Amino acid sequence: MTRKSFRVAIIGAGASGIAMAVSLQKAAIPFVIFERAADVGGTWRDNTYPGLACDVPSHLYRYSFAPNPDWTHEYSPGAEIHRYFRGVAETRGILERVRFSSEVLRIAYEEAGEWRIETTQGDQGQFNAVILATGILHKPVLPQIEGRDDFAGVSFHSSKWNHDVQLAGKRFGIIGTGSTATQILPAIVDKVAAVSLFQRTPQWIIGVPNNPFPEEKKAAFRENPEKMQSLYEYLNDIFNQRFASALVGENDEGLAEIARLCRENLEKNVHDPELRRRLTPSYQAGCKRLIVSDKFYPAIQRPNAHLVDTPIQRIEAGGVRTKDGKLHELDVIVYATGFDPFAFFRPAEIVGPGGASLNERWKDSCRAYRSVAVPGFPNLFFVGGPNSPIGNFSYLRTAEVQIGFIEQLVAELAAGTYKELEPTQEATDKFNAEITSAMKDTVWVTGGCTSWYYDKQGNVVSWPWTYARFEAGLKHPRLEEFHAR
Ligand code: NAP
Repeated sequence: MTRKSFRVAIIGAGASGIAMAVSLQKAAIPFVIFERAADVGGTWRDNTYPGLACDVPSHLYRYSFAPNPDWTHEYSPGAEIHRYFRGVAETRGILERVRFSSEVLRIAYEEAGEWRIETTQGDQGQFNAVILATGILHKPVLPQIEGRDDFAGVSFHSSKWNHDVQLAGKRFGIIGTGSTATQILPAIVDKVAAVSLFQRTPQWIIGVPNNPFPEEKKAAFRENPEKMQSLYEYLNDIFNQRFASALVGENDEGLAEIARLCRENLEKNVHDPELRRRLTPSYQAGCKRLIVSDKFYPAIQRPNAHLVDTPIQRIEAGGVRTKDGKLHELDVIVYATGFDPFAFFRPAEIVGPGGASLNERWKDSCRAYRSVAVPGFPNLFFVGGPNSPIGNFSYLRTAEVQIGFIEQLVAELAAGTYKELEPTQEATDKFNAEITSAMKDTVWVTGGCTSWYYDKQGNVVSWPWTYARFEAGLKHPRLEEFHAR
C-alpha cells in the first residue's frame, strides 16, 4: 500500500524517463514527470540531422515491455524511433503525467524524505523521491577553434540541425568523424555541391548493411510475437553480452574479430591506397565507440567529397583554414563534435542535506553507487548515472535494469517501510575503487586512443565488467549497503 500523499518526481521524458514512469505506474506509485521541452523523446526529439538512425538494431533498441513488429529497417531511422517512444508514452497514459516546458532549475532537500523542485514554471512543491532520467548525451560540445564566430555562412551543432538551410548548391564542412558525422556525410553528399570532412582522428568502421524489413517479415512478427522475442534475445547476446565482454577484456577473440572485420571493411571498400592510409586508425578497434556503417566509405569516395586531415588552424569568414595555410571555402559548417557525457542533470542545481551541492561534488569527476545513487543525497536516484554501461549496446536495456532496481527502493519508501534510503559512503567507495582497478583492463584504456569516455581526472565513464555482472549487481538492492531510516 502506498503511503498517503507519497509522490515521486521523474526528471526527463526521454527514453529512460518514459520507462521509469511505466514502471512506477505498474507499481501504482504516484509520479510527475518534468520535461524541459514541449515533447517527449529526449535525444530522438533533439537530433533531426539527415541520416540519423540508431546503430543498435531496432529489435534490440526497444523496451522489453513494448515489442514493435513494425520497425521498417534493421537499424531504424531517428524519426521512427521518436514516434515509437511517443507512441508508448501515449498508449500507456504517460503523456498526461508530463509537465512540459518545465526545465528543472533546482532540486533541494528540505527535510527527511522531502525534496522541493523548482522549474522554469516556478515552485513545484515537495516530492518524496526524485529520479533523474536526464540522459547521457544531451549537452552539445562546440570545439574550441579560434574564429568560430567569424564565419560568414551558417553553422550549427549536429544536434541542432538548421532545416532552413537548403542542401542544393551548398559547400558543406563537417567537423568530426564520430557516429554522427559518418551518418550525415552519406545522407547529404549527393545533394550538396561539395562536402569537406575535417578529420582529427580516423575511425574504425564495421560495415553492416541496413536492410528494410519486408512486409511478410513484419506480418510474421505480428502473428508470432515470440519471433520478436527470440530475435531480441539473440541480438542482446551479440551486443550486450559478447560484444560488451570483448571491450572489457573478457573476450580477446571477440575483440580480434571486431578488429578483423573493421580492417576488412576498410580494405575492401576504400580503393585508393593513399586514402585508405589516411582513413586507417592507429589504435585498437573498439577503443573509441565503434562506427556502424556501410555507407561512409562509398560516400567519402564520391567526387564532391573531400577528406581533410590536415589539422584546423582557425575558422574565418570564408571557411576553415588548415595548418598548411589552405582555406577550405564553405557555405555551411556542421559541428559533429559530440556531447559532454558528464553533464547529467546539469545545469540544474542539486542541494542535499546540510547544503551539500552535487554540482560541486561532481565538478571534476562523477562518482556514484552502482550507477544509480549517491551518498549524502537520500531518495535521489539516477537512470543512466555514472559508470552505466555505455558503448554499442542497447541503452534501453541498461535503463530498464536500473529502473527495476530503483523501483524496488522506491516501493519500500512508498510503503512507508523507510522514509529515507541512501547508499553508504563505504559501499560507494568500495564500488568505485573496484571500477578504477577493473578499468585498466578495458580496451578504452589499453586500446591506445582518447575519447569522450574520459573525465577530467582520467576516469572512464563506462562499465568495466561484463553486462551480466551489471544485471546481476542491480537485480535486488542490498540494504546493508544503504542507510535505511
Ligand atoms: P563523438 O563520437 O564525440 O565525435 C566527435 C568528433 O568530433 C570526433 O571525431 C572528434 O575528434 C571531433 N572533434 C571534436 N573536437 C574537435 C576539434 N576541436 N577539432 C576537430 N575535430 C574535433 O560525437 P558524435 O559523433 O556526435 O557521437 C557521440 C555519441 O553519440 C556516439 O559515440 C554515440 O554514443 C552517440 N550516437 C549514436 C548514434 C547512434 O546511431 N546510436 C548516432 C550518433 C551518435 P577526435 O576523435 O579526434 O576526438
